[in-house]
Amino acid sequence: MTGRDPSQPNRLTRADLAGLPNYVPGRSPADLARELGLPEAIKLASNEVPYGPLPGVVEAVAEAAAGMHRYPDLAAVALRDALAEHYDVAADRIATGCGSVALAEHLVRVTSLPGDEVVYSWRSFEAYPIIAATSAATSVRVPNTSGHGHDLAAMAGAITDRTRLIFVCNPNNPTGTSLRRAELDRFMDAVPDDVLVVFDEAYREFVTDPDVPDALVTYGDRPNVVILRTLSKAWGLAGLRIGFLVAHPEVAAAVRKVVTPFSSSIVAQAGALAALAQAEEVRRRCALVVAERDRVTEALRKLLPEVPESQANFVWLPLSGVPGQGDRAVEFARACEARGVIVRPFPGEGVRVTIGTPAENDAFLAVAESVL
Ligand SMILES: *Cc1c(COP(=O)(O)O)cnc(C)c1O
Repeated sequence: MTGRDPSQPNRLTRADLAGLPNYVPGRSPADLARELGLPEAIKLASNEVPYGPLPGVVEAVAEAAAGMHRYPDLAAVALRDALAEHYDVAADRIATGCGSVALAEHLVRVTSLPGDEVVYSWRSFEAYPIIAATSAATSVRVPNTSGHGHDLAAMAGAITDRTRLIFVCNPNNPTGTSLRRAELDRFMDAVPDDVLVVFDEAYREFVTDPDVPDALVTYGDRPNVVILRTLSKAWGLAGLRIGFLVAHPEVAAAVRKVVTPFSSSIVAQAGALAALAQAEEVRRRCALVVAERDRVTEALRKLLPEVPESQANFVWLPLSGVPGQGDRAVEFARACEARGVIVRPFPGEGVRVTIGTPAENDAFLAVAESVL
């Protein structure tokens, strides 16, 4: 027996976990519809594309499921070969994982020891602080610019000799803002070559501004650059959990070494392979989303002129709190929910709204017009 009191639950796990935010999933539309007595609710909270699985994917997954009593291919050779061909890179530069969020964690694990620093912009992807803290790295958060984007000069200035990794989320979740070529060139030239720059490009497929570089094309040949991509958004596989990265072969091999064994499941590998064959359909769907994104942005700006330009499949409503008047972001999200539309509030900061079908977007805009 030690002096610990096992009836105190946080004696069994790390005390610092209590101070960490939980990753917040979007609320279930079925639950909300039941609560409101509506036939259905609209979920615009998790940045999924609204058009269902890509053609052929459900069939491929069902076929692969017949082999589920066997372990999957640990090295995901067929999928990595297909990704290598699709993105025109060598397969030894690719690692797959249980969503790109898992790969982001693995990258911190292969670079950072306790006390090492991970730099990112804030507000950005909510997984970064959780990943840094649970990997025992130190988070260095650099506040966003007044335009809700990364402050690259300040991020470069935040680099110390303990910095091991920098997340660059482009376009940025949840604000939708993007970094352009000239500022990124300056930033990349300022980063020491022993610091890993991880471009989290979960929304790359929705980018239409030619001045927002594809990091794989523009910086992919630098040994200290990693490109994180996901099949959860444009490719419609959020529920299968599969993402990938492209990196220098040594970095990709390090990630493949630490990845939880077999975490790219049989069905995820098969689904991803089938989805990759649907690139044309993905482009068509992304064009629909982009047209709606631009329409929704224009309509919202009539109500809230500060809505920033989005290059992703969501828009950001900056709704910071007014002291003494409650939290505008939370209140706005609550008003949307009361009318059957689920959006994602960030208390004190703003609300992220995913682009849905034209009818879903109209329903959201009707609520926004009545609330704002
Ligand atoms: C959605 C998202 C991801 C991808 O998550 P998966 O784990 O692949 O589903 C990664 N980065 C950002 C910024 C995201 O918004």
